[in-house]
Amino acid sequence: MTSSTLKFMSTEREDAQTATDITGTADIGVTGLAVMGSNIARNFARRGYTVAVHNRSTGKTDALLNEHGSDGDFVRTESIAEFAAALNSPRRALVMVQAGAPTDAVIDALADVFDEGDIIIDGGNALYTDTIRREKAMAERGIRFIGAGISGGEEGALEGPSIMPGGPASSYEVVGPMLESISAKVDGTPCCTHIGDDGSGHFVKMVHNGIEYSDMQLIGEAYHLLRGVAGIEPGPMAEVFRDWNTGELDSYLIEITAEVLAQVDADTGGPLVDVIVDRAGQKGTGRWTVKSALDLGVPVTGIAEAVFARALSSSVPQREAGKSLPSGTVSTPSEAGAEFVEDVRKALYASKIIAYAQGFDQITAASTEHGWDIARGDLATIWRGGCIIRAKFLNHIREAYAQNPELPTLLAAPYFAEALADCVDSWRRVVTTAVTAGIPAPGFSAALAYYDGLRTDRLPAALIQGQRDFFGAHTYLRTDRDGSFHTLWSGDRSEVRA
Ligand code: NAP
Repeated sequence: MTSSTLKFMSTEREDAQTATDITGTADIGVTGLAVMGSNIARNFARRGYTVAVHNRSTGKTDALLNEHGSDGDFVRTESIAEFAAALNSPRRALVMVQAGAPTDAVIDALADVFDEGDIIIDGGNALYTDTIRREKAMAERGIRFIGAGISGGEEGALEGPSIMPGGPASSYEVVGPMLESISAKVDGTPCCTHIGDDGSGHFVKMVHNGIEYSDMQLIGEAYHLLRGVAGIEPGPMAEVFRDWNTGELDSYLIEITAEVLAQVDADTGGPLVDVIVDRAGQKGTGRWTVKSALDLGVPVTGIAEAVFARALSSSVPQREAGKSLPSGTVSTPSEAGAEFVEDVRKALYASKIIAYAQGFDQITAASTEHGWDIARGDLATIWRGGCIIRAKFLNHIREAYAQNPELPTLLAAPYFAEALADCVDSWRRVVTTAVTAGIPAPGFSAALAYYDGLRTDRLPAALIQGQRDFFGAHTYLRTDRDGSFHTLWSGDRSEVRA
């Protein structure tokens, strides 16, 4: 130990007098000390808070204290009862365990030893409907519950994550300053703010992850096209991404893409990316985003394509069988130099704007449905730092909502409308090239189709309404009159008011 104090609750380690001494001494507790929890506990300790630490099995607790006990003041606890006793009032405990049943088990155990007014924060990747249920159940027991989405991975947890807490505003008043103090800061502004009631924090974290899926898929498609069409190898391509990272695409994901592409495999001496199996995993938040979007009726096509592209990559038998399918006539442009690279950059930027616009639409719809009253500009603000989708262009989203909090779509904001106008020709060329070269670019093309869909004055939905009325008498609206109408398709085909 250096200047800091390491306190022990365990009677096996210290005498009863010491145990009494430390009762109620911790400002905050963290239970669940795997990679995220231990780093957040260290983050709190580094900010000067006394942190009670607990894990189901004590190995992780001891590893944290042995390796990083000098980060600040920790209180070691072994049981949930000890953990509760170590916390000052009102108790504040951050749960960082596996989402699902383990989270329920830990919350229930805490509620059994907590008092009315104490606060439980679930910082795991909970499904927002679980958070709504848990908040209600805890409120019935007098316990205040906050569902906080936390993004930033291992490094963010330690250095400053982006935190999206949802729950009663009165509870946020108590824990908000602590969460803000450990969060990332951009221009002095914390990347943490109260999102809204009950499941709103976990909902926006879920959509954040969905956007992350989309962002990663689009970058993957850019890589595929630059390699397959322009023949740029991973090493030199790292330089392309580094260059892109100095402009409007400046973001964490572009930055780490350059790092991954530049990495040389020690065994083969070739690019690491060439020896990584091309099957993308997923833990579920992308899928949850799409399921929720389907329920809300919001077209998040960019996120959906990203989730399905990962699923396709992992469809081993289908891909094996698909290898012998004919490509038809494919061709790549005779010249694909700097202009093509710039086209891909613009296609990536335009598609990324679409992904964010769709994600913000989904948040808007959920906010309305659940009465969360989410300030979308605040979200862009707290995603500027700490989280995986942190990007320079979030400043423009922030400004767009500041100028017009009621924006019907981000694409209507002057900055984004102009950016898309600048990119659209390149975008069309890239999608066309991908199609003629036989290179899958579902993210780029779905984003472009969405853009064209919004632009189109008359969509074929009119014909679909006619078909629906034909086989199911589902009725239709007319462009020139109020009311619903039905054509007597099996009769004389005259029109009646429905
Ligand atoms: P994790 O692998 O998701 O979970 C491991 C932790 O859960 C361990 O402390 C484990 O205790 C505990 N645990 C599992 N089942 C339990 C049970 N039934 N009762 C009590 N404790 C139980 O850990 P993580 O990666 O650090 O993530 C923690 C949470 O943050 C998760 O919800 C995760 O989805 C979320 N998250 C993770 C990241 C990331 O980058 N990893 C980013 C954002 C959010 P034992 O040691 O005793 O097994």
